Amino acid sequence: MPATSEFLEANQRYAFAFDKGTLALPPARKVAIVTCMDARIDPAKALGLQEGDAHVIRNAGGRIHDALRSLAISQTLLGTEEVVVIHHTDCGMLTFTDASIREKLRKERRADADGVSFLPFSDLDQSVRDDIALYRGSPLVRHDATVRGFVYDVKTGRLREVN
Ligand code: ZN
Repeated sequence: MPATSEFLEANQRYAFAFDKGTLALPPARKVAIVTCMDARIDPAKALGLQEGDAHVIRNAGGRIHDALRSLAISQTLLGTEEVVVIHHTDCGMLTFTDASIREKLRKERRADADGVSFLPFSDLDQSVRDDIALYRGSPLVRHDATVRGFVYDVKTGRLREVN
């Protein structure tokens, strides 16, 4: 069965027991989490989140560059005042370069991606530091917000802070 059909069945069970229909729009815990789309990371379970608690902004790598638009909305319109950046071990972003993915796109899709930066990285801790620096340099986001960066270990489920 295609995954989407399975989702519809699972959703029927979820909706049957659903009792969170009166939650407020702004996140109750006033926090935005930026993390990778990696399927092995479940932010709700790993961080103890419930529906309504937090904005979870996900993209390939958990890069701030892609998340600035969402963070600006999260903070300016929905009152979040804390940011957590979480990259992780064994990330796919460690496995390619802009040159290699551009070449693949050229071969497989005849696409010219020379103008696109896919934001891969080769040093995990440095990628977290770079993203926090990018955050601090952006005029779109709050500079009075607490911003902390972590690496999540996909083998242990543990977070380690990057300083
Ligand atoms: Zn990843």
